[in-house]
Amino acid sequence: MTIEKMKNRVREMITDKRYEHTLGVEYTACCLAYRYGADPIKARIAAVLHDCAKYVPHARMVEECEEAGCPVSDSERKNPALLHAKLGAVYAEKYFGIRDPEILSAILWHTTGKPDMSLLDKIIYIADYIEPNRDKSPILAQVRKEAFHDIDRCLILIMEGMMNYLTRQNDLMDPMTKNAYDYYRTAD
Ligand code: FE
Ligand code: FE
Repeated sequence: MTIEKMKNRVREMITDKRYEHTLGVEYTACCLAYRYGADPIKARIAAVLHDCAKYVPHARMVEECEEAGCPVSDSERKNPALLHAKLGAVYAEKYFGIRDPEILSAILWHTTGKPDMSLLDKIIYIADYIEPNRDKSPILAQVRKEAFHDIDRCLILIMEGMMNYLTRQNDLMDPMTKNAYDYYRTAD
């Protein structure tokens, strides 16, 4: 399937606003791929598909993940919104014919991150945070600059901000978010 065809299909699965976000992630991921020597086509495909399962009702997300043989953790059961990443990877394979493990991994880990991410994982994670439609983070300008300078330091900045935010909001934090942060903080 061509990227254009994927985009048309994704457009029907998500809201207009989310589609704008998706396009922003697509071209930001492409720029980062140029900067760090990743495959720009894989980056674009992962970006286009990363939020395709965002609007599946939460109860169905849990069901469909389990049906697909993806274990649903306690933290995901309490906060099913997290599952859009896992289900996004399932849909990428099932409805878009994606078999490439690098693309599927980048979709799977785009929300929580994880220890020892691949270059493509990092690119999608970062592009999701800095794409041009984003405006909520107080450290966005700094993160955008670091994204094209030092990708691992950029990752740590985002994860730090995320930890602070989730702690302040008293929000549920997926253990993987903390694992990823601990990994990169101590690797620095
Ligand atoms: Fe997402
Ligand atoms: Fe996103």
